[in-house]
Amino acid sequence: MLKTALVVAFIEAAGIMALTAVAFGIIIRAKFTPLQESLTIGLLFSFAAIFSMITPVEFAPGIIIDGRAIMVGLGAAFGGLPAAIVVSITASAARFYIGGEGALSGVVGIILAAILGYAWIKICKCKGRPNFHHLVIGGTMISLQLVGFYILPWELANKIIWNVYPFLLPTSIISTVILGTLIEREHALFEATIKLETAANTDVLTGLMNRRGLEIAIESMAPQTNTTDSVVVFDLDHFKAVNDKYGHNGGDKALISFAHILELNARETDVAVRIGGEEFALFLRDTTAEQAETITQRILQNVRSTPIHFNGRSFPITVSAGISEYFAQKTKYSQAMHEADKALYQAKNNGRDQMVQASNLAAA
Ligand code: GH3
Ligand code: MG
Ligand code: MG
Repeated sequence: MLKTALVVAFIEAAGIMALTAVAFGIIIRAKFTPLQESLTIGLLFSFAAIFSMITPVEFAPGIIIDGRAIMVGLGAAFGGLPAAIVVSITASAARFYIGGEGALSGVVGIILAAILGYAWIKICKCKGRPNFHHLVIGGTMISLQLVGFYILPWELANKIIWNVYPFLLPTSIISTVILGTLIEREHALFEATIKLETAANTDVLTGLMNRRGLEIAIESMAPQTNTTDSVVVFDLDHFKAVNDKYGHNGGDKALISFAHILELNARETDVAVRIGGEEFALFLRDTTAEQAETITQRILQNVRSTPIHFNGRSFPITVSAGISEYFAQKTKYSQAMHEADKALYQAKNNGRDQMVQASNLAAA
């Protein structure tokens, strides 16, 4: 009977751990602020701790163990300080509600588990990403919450601890390793997704955003009220000749150099993009055409005065630009880019190494 109860208890514990890990994965993918994320993780582990408390496991007659300490300790470890506070308060409240003689020592144990879990992740120097070895230490550390029983009379506490600890220690280590590994898997999957997404949105050569990245960046920007934005489209001059003379690698070096200049001139709110080939765009938020002109002049000047060093030779490059001002609320960015493109075409016709405002085209 006891064996059957243990198997059932183990499956139940494994189930709650798997669910906790899946929910953890959902939380880290949600677009929460760090505080919101920590508090939500605290709530998640609170549910898990309370569930563990109401479904304890009788390891041997009279020896009852439940997984609350692990849930509280790991909640504090993986969720940070706000999570540690949330999980301590909720699990303590639940323990008081359940009542009984051991209520106070149970609460002390819960608070100790949170402190030990939080302290463990800080001292293990694993940046919140524990490996197997760290998890074994974590499980051992969290199991020390049992000293909470010492608020009971010394002899009674000794008796309980010596009976329970031989069962609690291995259970604590095994549970920490299982749940910690499941959580680490969620972290790793999430990171892999982010890496893939970033790679898909980034131009490999220059590290700037590509067209796909631009669409996502523009979509995710909060629509601003009554602000004027500007877009500048750039195209390197006579780039085919650069490739012909210095080879494709020389051309690539020029593209990297230009991308760097673009980045140096972009503010945090601006978006620099390689549209394709030797064409780039700079989206300037809250910027009038006049201000965009000043920035573009500076970029053109930087490009003129930054020769490309390649294979022991150096050569100058120049770039032409078209500027278009638009109200993001009324005009689509693609339309603004189209206008800027027309202005760029004019800049090329005017002799290159210069810029043209789309508004001047309309007037012409
Ligand atoms: P214009 O001043 O009118 O812009 O002349 P251009 O020679 O720059 O324009 P054109 O469109 O004729 O040539 C663009 C060249 O850019 C042709 C293409 O081989 C080259 N190119 C496109 N992508 C890359 C790249 O990733 N690396 C290198 N090295 N060259 C590229
Ligand atoms: Mg071109
Ligand atoms: Mg060109």
